[in-house]
Amino acid sequence: MTDTAATAGAPTRPASVTDELLERLVARVPGSGGATWKLTEVYSGEVLVELPQSTPEDIEEAFATARAAQRLWAQWPLERRLEVFDRAHALLVDNAHVTADLIQVESGKNRRMAIEETCDPPMVISHYLRRAPKVLAPKKRGGPVPFVSTSTEVHVPKGVVGIIAPWNFPFATGLSDAIPALMAGNAVVVKPDNKTALSPLFGISLLEQAGLPEGLFQVVCGEGPDVGPTLIDNADYIMFTGSTATGRVIGERAGRNLIGCCLELGGKNPMIVLDDVNVEEWVEGTAFGVFGNTGQICMHIERIYLPESRYDELRDAFVERAANLRIGAAYDFGPEIGSLVSTDQRDRVASHVEDAVAKGATVLTGGRARPDIGPAFFEPTVLEGVTTDMVAGCTETFGPVVALHRYRTVDEAIKLANDTDYGLNASVWGTDLARAEAVAARIESGNVNINDALATAYASKGTPSGGVKNSGVGARHGDQGLLKYTDVKNVAVLKKQVMGPRPGQGYDAYVKQMLSSLKLMKRLRVR
Ligand code: NAD
Repeated sequence: MTDTAATAGAPTRPASVTDELLERLVARVPGSGGATWKLTEVYSGEVLVELPQSTPEDIEEAFATARAAQRLWAQWPLERRLEVFDRAHALLVDNAHVTADLIQVESGKNRRMAIEETCDPPMVISHYLRRAPKVLAPKKRGGPVPFVSTSTEVHVPKGVVGIIAPWNFPFATGLSDAIPALMAGNAVVVKPDNKTALSPLFGISLLEQAGLPEGLFQVVCGEGPDVGPTLIDNADYIMFTGSTATGRVIGERAGRNLIGCCLELGGKNPMIVLDDVNVEEWVEGTAFGVFGNTGQICMHIERIYLPESRYDELRDAFVERAANLRIGAAYDFGPEIGSLVSTDQRDRVASHVEDAVAKGATVLTGGRARPDIGPAFFEPTVLEGVTTDMVAGCTETFGPVVALHRYRTVDEAIKLANDTDYGLNASVWGTDLARAEAVAARIESGNVNINDALATAYASKGTPSGGVKNSGVGARHGDQGLLKYTDVKNVAVLKKQVMGPRPGQGYDAYVKQMLSSLKLMKRLRVR
């Protein structure tokens, strides 16, 4: 393991992250009760700013303000709404480095990952700028009676969308899910994680600089169980990203309120490596797929199934790469691996490794916390001999830890990959693409990447992406990622009252005529 950071002390905080900026950002968070949360810089553990904590009354007021702003926003023609995002795209790209500074101070991730994260909202904007006019346009169809009736599908905004976001991609989940909601004519109230409220607050200020009306995008902060109930009870739709356990709580409450929700939850994502894999490409792609964002990507790989015939070769190549990843605390592009988000997360990861080792697993590399680099650092860790009775064998670890397994037949590998309650992401590697695609088709997962671990699916903004089984309900991206923020209104027109028996026509004759016209309409394919 190579340390690029000065282990004697944390790196100097980026110059852009001034006290003035921090105070300005948190000033928009309501906190009438006076309670605050100490938001810290991960590398140093120093308090950056006192983040106001919103009371139930603050949240209700935020919704009232958002609702008033939404009524006006929904009346803007779609093209005018989209112009705001056209301008916002440029501002988001031009401010990518300041955004990355904020993402890094609050999450501790390495700079490469922070910069990649800044690209997500602009990618979402680009996609929906092109697609929204078509998807949101009314669609007129023939009605039940040919020529005299029509039915038009009209999409109207839901109202105020509540977004609850996690800490692992705070800027992306705080903004990217809000963008299609706003484009569709909704207001948004977002609740970021307390640890990572700065970068979404900064992103929202950029949207407002681009012309988003004031009041339309509200931010409330607090611990989930304190803020969640009032937020859900006031929202017209909930977009949640986080753990499966919290997703169940959110889904139950949304269900009771009869509002829709999209739940993007955890995973225990498998990778199947076929025996014709290109080892160099696989090692590089998998190092990112496992350890990117220090293993705190919902779609990252935690289980790798290797063919018996090439097990030793593939294991040795991967372990060597993992052992040589540059881990460090720095606000430059040097480190390949950054910190975990908090010491709590570090302890969770350590406990999974300790449990596995106690039950017989072997650490091939890593396995230790690195307080010499920073409070929440943990080494890239590769395990062998993990079984499903170990916590790391069945539960999401969400850290830089992966288990290698060997398989004899592809059928066995698929069975093992599917032996989980989760179904968020999977990866298949092999030179023969048709064979890899056939394997992908048999994996129970909302996303499957072939010859990549996760980024290809996630960055394909035109295709819906979500989890199956315990990994979620609904999807983001694609037409579905926009339409979910709308209610559909069926506006039906009958030009002439022709339903029912004609004057003087007996009901028997009418029914006979109706049944034969059903056959005729099918033959003529009238819908
Ligand atoms: P978490 O569920 O603990 O918290 C997520 C958010 O929910 C936070 O803002 C938190 O404050 C809030 N929250 C917690 N309890 C709540 C409650 N009772 N009511 C309302 N809100 C509540 O998850 P986390 O630890 O912050 O994030 C990591 C998890 O998120 C991992 O499981 C990861 O896989 C998952 N994740 C999934 C995706 C995806 O797209 N599927 C993306 C990123 C992260």
